[in-house]
Amino acid sequence: MPTDIEIAQNARLERIGHIAAKAGIPDDALEPYGHYKAKVSLDWLDGLPEKPDSRLVLVTAISPTPAGEGKTTLTVGLGDALNRIGRKTMICLREPSMGPVFGIKGGAAGGGHAQVVPMEDINLHFTGDFAAIGQAHNLLAAAIDNHIHHGNELDIDPTRIHWKRVMDMNDRALRSTIVGLGGHVNGQPREDGFDIVVASEVMAIFCLATSLMDLRERLGEIVFGLDRQGQPLRARQLQVHGAMAVLLRDAIKPNLVQTLENNPALLHGGPFANIAHGCSSVIATRAGLKLADYVVTEAGFGADLGAEKFLDIKCRKAGLWPDACVIVATVRALKYNGGVPVKELGTENLAALEKGMANLERHVDNITGRFGLPAVVAINRFDADTEAELDLIRRAMRARGVDVVLAEHWAKGSAGAETLAHEVVRLAEQGKGASAARTAPNPLYPDDMPLWDKLRTIATRIYGAADISAPAKVRRQIEDWQAQGYGHYPVCVAKTAASFSTDPTALGAPSGHVVNVREVRLSAGAGFIVMICGDLMTMPGLPKVPSAQRIDIGPDGKVVGLF
Ligand code: ADP
Ligand code: MG
Repeated sequence: MPTDIEIAQNARLERIGHIAAKAGIPDDALEPYGHYKAKVSLDWLDGLPEKPDSRLVLVTAISPTPAGEGKTTLTVGLGDALNRIGRKTMICLREPSMGPVFGIKGGAAGGGHAQVVPMEDINLHFTGDFAAIGQAHNLLAAAIDNHIHHGNELDIDPTRIHWKRVMDMNDRALRSTIVGLGGHVNGQPREDGFDIVVASEVMAIFCLATSLMDLRERLGEIVFGLDRQGQPLRARQLQVHGAMAVLLRDAIKPNLVQTLENNPALLHGGPFANIAHGCSSVIATRAGLKLADYVVTEAGFGADLGAEKFLDIKCRKAGLWPDACVIVATVRALKYNGGVPVKELGTENLAALEKGMANLERHVDNITGRFGLPAVVAINRFDADTEAELDLIRRAMRARGVDVVLAEHWAKGSAGAETLAHEVVRLAEQGKGASAARTAPNPLYPDDMPLWDKLRTIATRIYGAADISAPAKVRRQIEDWQAQGYGHYPVCVAKTAASFSTDPTALGAPSGHVVNVREVRLSAGAGFIVMICGDLMTMPGLPKVPSAQRIDIGPDGKVVGLF
């Protein structure tokens, strides 16, 4: 099997104008970035009528493992397969972050015969959206220090500024820094640090905004720190939110690319799934729903984090709700959850698989039982999977009334995901027709539930926890925000993705644990409260041998080493 990049480079790409035409986007609404990428005009999209019968399909997964699950790859393969069986489909994905591309991940545009292209562009710089988001973030950072330098009229407390700098690179040396060194003209020395761009609140805002003006308003609401009386200070008070919005005026238009099979995909935004909600932009999802009969989109991490936030944050705020949900699992990752070390995952092991099934079962119960979504389990097939292993999964799921479909898009493209596409259509269209009864929005908790109870609801009902806890200081902060009018915000949990608990080594489906909140953060622009349960990494580091060492370019201009 050729590598991902070899497959991508051998694909016959169509000019982006052709792809746009297929999607129903006229030339006038297209802003090409070269031959194979384009932005789509927001004004034109706004003018399109709503299409009430288009279907939204969420792709989520079991808890992520080093063995890999393949959500993005499956999202692309399913999108191609839906198009193949005659359903006009738009794929909506996050834009990859360059930090992980140079680190361990090596690319995030799908894999095998299910990819979005041109993958060299998509994985590196793309249309410059992340650079724009980083600059908008850093403009506010510069304005804060500048304000202090010029007399500090707002009485900003330099020890309580939490708005750091950002860049799209994994660089652990920048996690903690001191800025303002070098004497009076360089400002006032203070502790600072860098986060990766995808961890910026600007990224979360970008992905939840419904228009450029909504984006501008939300940027103004960002709380960047406290004054010496302990009162919150907003970007609006520094009067830079307008300029931040100017920097984002192109970025906010969704990016159109194509799959290996020349079907349209919108890639837009890419917030972290820990400190933020981990899914692509509301603008792109809405655009897809206006343009196509089906939108297939991915939520980051496992269903306990990604799908929960997709449903409780993104869907709640944007008035969306999926019609069907695909839960991706691999035999390998289930065996890993059953205790098998990574290097032994290629060997059949029914006992470990059976044990690891607990992880899939919990996620399935959450999606179907807690959220009430029609769901199918897709097994992303790897070469080493045996028939006995696949059978075991089918039997366990049959007991729950959930179908299991083998998905072979990675090896075969859309042909390998046709069965899955038919099952998704069956699930999504079962309410269609005379009764037109669609799955009604059913978030886990109501807006007016107190913040503390929201977290307890997520922890006990989704994570299988017995209870939640927090130091007195954190409890007080939550109560203050509740009293100050932020109680209606949803809660965005930042915890390890590897486990239902806060202990990354507790695989399978642990229960009875206590979820401790170490720290809380107000994202007033995005409109949620981040509750940090366990370690939180907002500036990743590079591994000893980063992917960057394999990425190269030849005299023919061909890029190698992305995957
Ligand atoms: P996720 O979105 O869940 O993080 P991706 O779809 O990005 O996962 O896939 C991660 C990696 O695994 C990619 O490099 C992809 O090529 C590879 N991969 C996915 N599915 C398969 C498969 N069935 N067989 C082999 N490799 C796969
Ligand atoms: Mg992915």
